Amino acid sequence: MIKIAIYPGTFDPITNGHLDLIQRGLMTFDEVIIAVAPSTRKQPLFTIQERLKLINMAIKGLKNAKVEAFSSLLVEYVRRKKGIAILRGLRAVSDFEYELQMAHMNRRLDMHIETVFMMPSEEYSFLTSSIVKEVASFGGSVKGLVPAEVEKALKRKLKGLKGLTE
Ligand code: ADP
Repeated sequence: MIKIAIYPGTFDPITNGHLDLIQRGLMTFDEVIIAVAPSTRKQPLFTIQERLKLINMAIKGLKNAKVEAFSSLLVEYVRRKKGIAILRGLRAVSDFEYELQMAHMNRRLDMHIETVFMMPSEEYSFLTSSIVKEVASFGGSVKGLVPAEVEKALKRKLKGLKGLTE
């Protein structure tokens, strides 16, 4: 049986921290499916199509990683994909409480699906999509923190947004 892990998130946009986690996931699982949530409540900067496209470009070299959008209950999606685990990243203590809540809820919803936490490399331990967007919006460099395509997409998107307000 091949071992499939589902890595859910908003990925607005994908960062090198996410990629670090996907690579780590692939060392333990045969396949990692990156499941992108629309997250309308979070008001994402990038549309779901843009996020999918950026992820696809970023995982081009990773044979057993693929990306899809999902909008159902996570455990239902995992079952549909025949996944055995939900992959999540733990950066600092601040992630812990929320992640524990979700993991317990998902276990309650389906006790056969295990949530697996992995830690990114130290250099990405304080990296979030939000901080990347914040820095980029003020013209700061996010080089080395996100894939090159994301860097370009951020510049294009933020220029477009500025154009709307000026
Ligand atoms: P969500 O909206 O579900 O928090 P994110 O796209 O922010 O979605 O994150 C998806 C998952 O990736 C979460 O488990 C998060 O902890 C993890 N993650 C985000 N940034 C990093 C990072 N720099 N290193 C490792 N894991 C990360």
